[in-house]
Amino acid sequence: MQVTGDWLHHSGTQGLCQALSAMGFQALFVGGCVRNALIGAPVNDIDIATDATPEMVTNIAEKAGFKVIPTGFEHGTVTVFANGIAHEVTTFRRDIETDGRRAVVRFSTDVAEDAARRDFTMNALYARADGEVVDPLGGLPDLLARRVRFVGDADARIAEDYLRILRFFRFFAWYGDQSLGLDADGLAACAAHSAGLETLSRERVGDEFRKLLSAPDPSMAVAAMAQSGVLGAALPGADARAFPIAVHFGVNDWLARLVVLGGMPESLRLSRSALAQVSLIREELGQLRSPQELGYRHGAKVAKAIILCRAALFETQPPQGWMHDVEVGAKAVFPVAAADLMPDLQGKALGDRLRALEQIWIDSDFAPTKADLLG
Ligand code: ATP
Ligand code: MG
Repeated sequence: MQVTGDWLHHSGTQGLCQALSAMGFQALFVGGCVRNALIGAPVNDIDIATDATPEMVTNIAEKAGFKVIPTGFEHGTVTVFANGIAHEVTTFRRDIETDGRRAVVRFSTDVAEDAARRDFTMNALYARADGEVVDPLGGLPDLLARRVRFVGDADARIAEDYLRILRFFRFFAWYGDQSLGLDADGLAACAAHSAGLETLSRERVGDEFRKLLSAPDPSMAVAAMAQSGVLGAALPGADARAFPIAVHFGVNDWLARLVVLGGMPESLRLSRSALAQVSLIREELGQLRSPQELGYRHGAKVAKAIILCRAALFETQPPQGWMHDVEVGAKAVFPVAAADLMPDLQGKALGDRLRALEQIWIDSDFAPTKADLLG
């Protein structure tokens, strides 16, 4: 079996692999790039596994003229920039000790050991620089059947790292056969260990939610998370009932999907801009502003998300002609400026008057002209 793709033939990527193999080391693509290339999904980032230590990788890559950043040196990872492409190069590892949050690792020279500490069989596939697939654990049939299965015993693997619970649902949402459902052993183990999620940092949990909710249709994964107790443990107070309706209506923004789940997204330590977006959508859900006003105030994309979230949560249909109204609002330009009201009005009085005129203009379907409003 071979993988292929533009990413594989990039001069920097091939140059890096050749530099390592010229010194007698293995350089194997691993993880998302191999998995995605095999199923024809886009390859976003390139992970390379090697038997060279991080020091050796650094020396070899720098001698080849590439820039190296020690992004996770003690865990075996350096990032090599070769002709404009970033490569995460990680030394083969085996876990010595794990406590559910972090692992003590030893470097290894055996790819089978490295494969055994990865999370899912479909993520433990490797490929040589020429594209030849290396499959130490027999993960290929699982990938081709779109089965997300833990490497080894699901219970033991989750107890090593509780983030794997969320990764299980995320990879199912993206790559699992939705008609097959989730792997029963994996699901049972996730349910049994859901309390362990509370020990994870909220940043990591939030990041997993972003990746999960960015899948084209994570409805089945989210429903299974709710049923197994994982959703409540990761996002207390969340309710998955309206979620599939929102996805069906076309809510595709991950933050809007997060609002539909409810609970306390603030607890996820999102970025400031993500939090602002969540609060905005949530506040507008209850305000019942018209589609054209939402379009005007927030732009078409956010307005559409608000209207569709509302419809899903309140079990109604979006209002007649709403898409057109949103577009009209998004294009409308308020014809009055502060300068038009000065010097008669200043400071707070000026602001109040401007806002009042703007509301009249919005409520009149943007029809009044400047003369109408000032007259
Ligand atoms: P993508 O980058 O598209 O999200 P990926 O499979 O490359 O998918 P990463 O999070 O980049 O995912 O991890 C790279 C690889 O490292 C995974 O494919 C997996 O083999 C391994 N891995 C990552 N996180 C874990 C984990 N928590 N436990 C075990 N293995 C992991
Ligand atoms: Mg990756």
